[in-house]
Parts: sequence; structure tokens; C-alpha cells
Amino acid sequence: MRTAFIYTDRYADYDYGPAHPLRIIRLKLTYELIKAYGLLDLPSTRFVETRKATEEELLLFHSRDYVDVLKRASQGSPAGEAFVYGLGPGDNPLFDGLWKWSLLATGASIQGAQLVVEGEADIAFNIAGGLHHALRDRASGFCYVNDPVITILWLLSRGKRVAYIDIDAHHGDGVQRAFYGTDRVITISLHESGNFLFPGSGFEYEMGEGDGKGYSINVPLYPFTDDETYLWAFEEVIPPLIREFKPDVMVTQLGVDTFYSDPLTHLCLTTRGFTKVIERLRDLSIPWVALGGGGYEFGNVARAWTLAWAIMNGVELEDEIPGPFEEMGRPLGFREDTLRDLPLSIPQGRRQEARMEAERVVNYLKKTIFSKGQGCP
Ligand SMILES: [Zn+2]
Repeated sequence: MRTAFIYTDRYADYDYGPAHPLRIIRLKLTYELIKAYGLLDLPSTRFVETRKATEEELLLFHSRDYVDVLKRASQGSPAGEAFVYGLGPGDNPLFDGLWKWSLLATGASIQGAQLVVEGEADIAFNIAGGLHHALRDRASGFCYVNDPVITILWLLSRGKRVAYIDIDAHHGDGVQRAFYGTDRVITISLHESGNFLFPGSGFEYEMGEGDGKGYSINVPLYPFTDDETYLWAFEEVIPPLIREFKPDVMVTQLGVDTFYSDPLTHLCLTTRGFTKVIERLRDLSIPWVALGGGGYEFGNVARAWTLAWAIMNGVELEDEIPGPFEEMGRPLGFREDTLRDLPLSIPQGRRQEARMEAERVVNYLKKTIFSKGQGCP
């Protein structure tokens, strides 16, 4: 397996602000932990310095107006103009270097696609990507530029058939919306139900329209969904649909805000469930562009994506966090002593309720989408 890790130290130049839940510094923490485990020195892997996306690449998806406003807003244009496009105090703040940050996060995702399509890597990982909420002409949910959509459009322009799999706790609404009417991309999102969490969409009956009917798949889950139920739902839905769809490339959004200790969400995954999902994705053996995503507890982000990168490279890691990393990580907010979580105990009633809801959703999907031919058996 040949892998590529796309990253730059320049990410650390940017910050949404100290009060914002999405801290770009979590990327540096992840990179340092990966490095401390020696996972960038493997013979199978290469380190690729991030390049900026071009304006033309942004325009593959975003409107000219929005791109212009984003650029101007980043240079201190009047806030009133930006407000119309979802920019300003709150979820999508205007911060110094916002434009350059967006170009870097997006450029790295396109690089991942290039490496995979050109046969330079079987798996490419951009931990800065996965900003799945941004819309064509509007910032949304901490996302300004939708790098998954741009990456998928780039792959489509090279004649590839693409499967998008999104395991972030939030529904991948921006990506679903972009491909809702086409059968050239299948989008599958497992997430906490929109009844409880932003963006309030991603219900099982949202299935696509026109040519795209049956190619948007949603698995909304209840709060307290644990590793076991999550893995069950994943296994029931994703491998059969992917086998049937036969993509040339798979683009995944690997948000880690599904973890029990994430401050913004209510699912109850641990490293055990997350790593099993990553193993399952790897075992699909499809050229793979892996993107980051949400995750608002720093320790979870660094540990989970380090574990993911190890699995992509077929390496087993010691549970003890390397000493030099601990010294560096503590001041940046890393508190965990071990790489993996301990088993979690969840109140039986809540666990059961989440399981029953997952079974209801999976049965619904099997009765509708699976039986119409876009899926098997
Ligand atoms: Zn999220």
C-alpha cells in the first residue's frame, strides 16, 4: 500500500479565534503525534507539502460572487457585504488569513485526488480537509470552501466514478446538495440525527432526485449511539452499496466529533469503533482520498487520526503516547495518557433506544433504496 500525507506547517499561521470550537492548532497536534510515532518515515509513505488551490479550482463549485466576497472579506472589506454570504461573528468568523487558509485546506484535498488518480498513492490523507457544510454561495458550519465537493468535481472531470462517505457527527449537507441530482456520485452520510444536531438535515428519506434518486444515502443516528450499533449500521449499509456502485475513487470525510467526549455532539463512539470503521474502509481496496473533518476535543482528533493513518499504512501502534510528544502536546491542550480509549459504559436504556432507532433506519433503507437496484443484496 502506498500512502501520501499532505500537510504544511503554514496551517498553524491561522486561527478562527480562541473562543471558536474549531481550532486549527489541532492539525499541528495531529501531525506531531503522527511524527512522534515515526509514521512519516515508513518506506510505503511520502510526505507532500500542501499547495494552495487556485481561484479557478474554487470556481469549480463556488459562485464568482462568493469567491470575490470571501477574498475581499479576508482583506477587511465591510462586514455588511459579507454577512449576506454567511460570513461574520459566530460560526464563520472573518479572521486574518481566512482566504489563504481556505486555499491551503482545499489545495491539499485536490493534491490528494491527483496523487491517487495519477497512481502515485493508493491512499492520500489531508487532515485539513473535509469542510463539508459550505454551500455554493455561502459559508456554513465553520466551512468556507467545500473542499470535498471541489475534489469530487475534479475527479468527475477526469471521468472518475466517485463514492463519498461521510462519518462526521454532522450531516454532510453541502456535499449531498451538490450531487443530489446525479447518479455519477453516491453520497453516504452516517451522522447524529438532524432532530438533535446542526444542520438539521440528513434524514433517511432524503434520497436524491431525478437521475440522482437512490444515490444520496443517509443514516441518522440517535444520541448515545455506541461503537457496536454504529459499526452494525455501517456494515449493513456501506459495503453493499459500494460493491454495487463500483466507484473508481472513494472520498471520505473522517470527522471525529462522533466521540463520546466531543463537546458539541451526542454520539458515543470511542477509538475502538472509529478504528474498526477505518479498517473496513481500507479493506474496500478502492483508491482513497481521505479528508479530515470535525472534532472539537483536541486529544480525540490527534489520537483518532494518528490511529487512522497507522491503519492506512498497516502499522500497529503502542498504546503509550511517545514522551517527546507529551511535552509538546500538554501546553496545546492534549490531556490523554493513552492512544486508545477505555471501554465505555452507557446507560442501558439510552443504548437500547439508539439501537432500535438505527435498526428502524437501516430497515427503511433496505426496503426503499436497496430494493430498487442501487444496492444489494
Ligand atoms: Zn461535525
